[in-house]
Amino acid sequence: MGEKYDVIVLGAGPAGLTAGIYLSRARVKTLIIDSGTAGGQMVMSYNVANYPGVETTSGWDISQTMLRQAKTFGCKVMTQSPVTGMNLSGEDKWVEVEDEGRFYAHAVITATGGVPRELGMESEQRFMGTGISYCATCDGDFFTDKEIVAIGGGNSALEEAVGLTKYASKVTIVHEFNEFQAQPWIVEEARKNEKIHFLMAQDIIEFTGTDHLETVIVASKETGERTLIPAEGCFIFIGYVPNTAVFKGILELNERGELIADRQMNTSVPGVFAAGDLREKRFRQITTSVADGTIAALSAIEFLQQRADSSPV
Ligand SMILES: Cc1cc2nc3c(=O)[nH]c(=O)nc-3n(C[C@H](O)[C@H](O)[C@H](O)COP(=O)(O)OP(=O)(O)OC[C@H]3O[C@@H](n4cnc5c(N)ncnc54)[C@H](O)[C@@H]3O)c2cc1C
Repeated sequence: MGEKYDVIVLGAGPAGLTAGIYLSRARVKTLIIDSGTAGGQMVMSYNVANYPGVETTSGWDISQTMLRQAKTFGCKVMTQSPVTGMNLSGEDKWVEVEDEGRFYAHAVITATGGVPRELGMESEQRFMGTGISYCATCDGDFFTDKEIVAIGGGNSALEEAVGLTKYASKVTIVHEFNEFQAQPWIVEEARKNEKIHFLMAQDIIEFTGTDHLETVIVASKETGERTLIPAEGCFIFIGYVPNTAVFKGILELNERGELIADRQMNTSVPGVFAAGDLREKRFRQITTSVADGTIAALSAIEFLQQRADSSPV
């Protein structure tokens, strides 16, 4: 029999680390397992300016603080630990980690987050954090009075593009089709906004600049004609990929692969909770993940208590 915990948390992003802080502080024996680095998507943010109580910090620094806080209360954290299998049903759930074996717990919190969908271009990687962003709420303010591009044509793309006009002097929406997939009301709102310009049926060819993004090069799908759009920022809104492949067939997911959980963060399996960006929800921020992590931890504590109360003496 492998090592036993009360709760195993999968994922050490802000949701998982917050759950770890609450659980360990409540003297619940907790193990966090992350297949990558602690901090999750936060470590990709060079400047976090919207976390209450912390005026401005780097994503790396806030990640390290959360990690330290969890460990201070006794939480065990394993990083760079790929999960190779799991059994989430029944009383004794287990998670198997490469080269480490099985870890057992009565409750599991899934907090494996996700990643914004990328275009997959080399030049996109080059300007990530120096002009290219996937989060208007996080980075919009950095482009005050600047000309920017927004790529995408769904609801979030148009809503975010409209939101970005609060900061930018001009927003050019570039979309791959001639029609938007977004709801008519938001398309109309975008069309009425004088700061928004449209380039439809375009392929993205390249992002160029020196140290920082300067130009987005696109080409018409119909004529092949190239347009060079001067832009200090480019926001890519082409979807989101939740890290839930490992839960397929085990927990209920929606058609986009997002994990379904109720307001107490209960998933479709008793004793398994979800927190953060992996779950079906509209807003994905550090604060919303931290809130989910808190609720999942408190729900898990309640679950363990009810389980103990109903166990035969
Ligand atoms: C570039 C960028 C900038 C951002 N800036 C801001 C900002 O300024 N302010 C803000 O509020 N939000 C910002 N966000 C959004 C914010 O970072 C996310 O909403 C938040 O990190 C989500 O937290 P999470 O814990 O749910 O998931 P994540 O942060 O995605 O963490 C999930 C963790 O799970 C791990 N994992 C994945 N799969 C597995 C598996 N199978 N087994 C074990 N572990 C696994 C990952 O390695 C990761 O560490 C930004 C996002 C990006 C991409």
